[in-house]
Amino acid sequence: MQECVPFVVIHVTMVAMDSRTSAPPPDESRYFLQCVQGQFERSARIVSLPDHIRTILSQPKNEIIVNFPVHMEDGSYKLFKGYRIQHNNILGPYKGGLRFHPDTRLDECKALATIMTYKCALMDIPFGGGKGGVRCDPRALTETELMRVTRRFTHALGNNIGPDYDIPAPDVGTNGKMMVWIMDTYMNTAGHAGRSSAQARVVTGKTLECGGSQGREKATAQGLVHCLTEWARDKGMSLEGKTALVQGYGNVGSHTAMILARLGVSIVGVADHTGHVLNPEGFNTHRLADHVKKHGSIEGYSKSQVVTRDEFFSYKADFFIPAALQNQIGAREAKLLQVKLVAEGANNPTMPDGEDELEARGIDILPDVLANAGGVTVSYYEWVQNGRHETWDLEEVETRLEKAMKRTYQRVVDFSRENKCRMRDAAHALALLRLKQVYDQRRIFP
Ligand code: GLU
Repeated sequence: MQECVPFVVIHVTMVAMDSRTSAPPPDESRYFLQCVQGQFERSARIVSLPDHIRTILSQPKNEIIVNFPVHMEDGSYKLFKGYRIQHNNILGPYKGGLRFHPDTRLDECKALATIMTYKCALMDIPFGGGKGGVRCDPRALTETELMRVTRRFTHALGNNIGPDYDIPAPDVGTNGKMMVWIMDTYMNTAGHAGRSSAQARVVTGKTLECGGSQGREKATAQGLVHCLTEWARDKGMSLEGKTALVQGYGNVGSHTAMILARLGVSIVGVADHTGHVLNPEGFNTHRLADHVKKHGSIEGYSKSQVVTRDEFFSYKADFFIPAALQNQIGAREAKLLQVKLVAEGANNPTMPDGEDELEARGIDILPDVLANAGGVTVSYYEWVQNGRHETWDLEEVETRLEKAMKRTYQRVVDFSRENKCRMRDAAHALALLRLKQVYDQRRIFP
């Protein structure tokens, strides 16, 4: 096919002062991208996606890489590498989070941006897919350094983001406070037009005081619990008295644990980057969240029994909630799991061999693009509120989110039953059909 869609690779390299942050990309992020591309091929086959649309969606439209210097508190200068991948914008502005993590890589961002295109198309919200981040360890930075990194990154991105063009949000290692710094930097550097308050919608997931939405912080978790509740209802199962293992106790993991606990689910195991802990009586999810806020991890939480990774995965429970990073469940972990359902709070936590094994063992999967779509859905509500200068109350946000999640859950279940395919393939297929409608009508410029 002729190259009909511009494929732009912009490398903006600023003064190289210190290259301490660079490390060769490990194969892990390449593998992640290959997994996502493999999923794309499967669902494209299911819906007989025309070749030209398949070709367009097989690569991001824009891959932006920036290297920018930051003045550190010890007086040194450090060079950071940042990414923004704009996968597709046929349905609306590019949309997706920013990840601050030492392992952030180009291929990882490409994979995550592709997942965002699916997620927004599946939820039928008028956004495309994007993702980005900075390769850094936010835990190793002081508050001032973190702010400088965030602001310099925003400055380096310049007009590559914008309220009607590309709208970042929180992801792993970022939060509402950082989104406010992005908004402030953008509004102060985007020229006169950028100072209008409607430009606050350049970013979502902001703090409530600075234009964020009610319910956004727990939205990903709340959406996941809606899906899990629907799944249990289909199985004729009550949540009361059930048990769950939660991997990751950041925004998604902790809020999921707290919401599930309120519904009578006992959280019997929790894991994060520091280790794996069990409590057969069930954790006090709020107290654990306070501990993580104070100490930065689950390490040292008194009411827990420290176990190995294998012991954590093989602990018997009803639900497994991966809410950390990608590529956590391979065939090995899938063989260990003694659960009925894996509900994906993280993006792409299950690897292809893990998925095959779970399927063979009759363990259901609620796929990421459905299960964790509550976050971007409420991001959309935030963006709409900012644009209309409105503030919706929590009830309004929650009612809309519940309706959106349950409707989409049902569409995915129906498609998977009718086409005898996995829930993940069904979710991707529905997303591709949505994108195809628009390509069919708009065609390709010129
Ligand atoms: N980072 C979240 C995700 O992966 C939220 C994205 C957004 O709100 O734009 O879905």
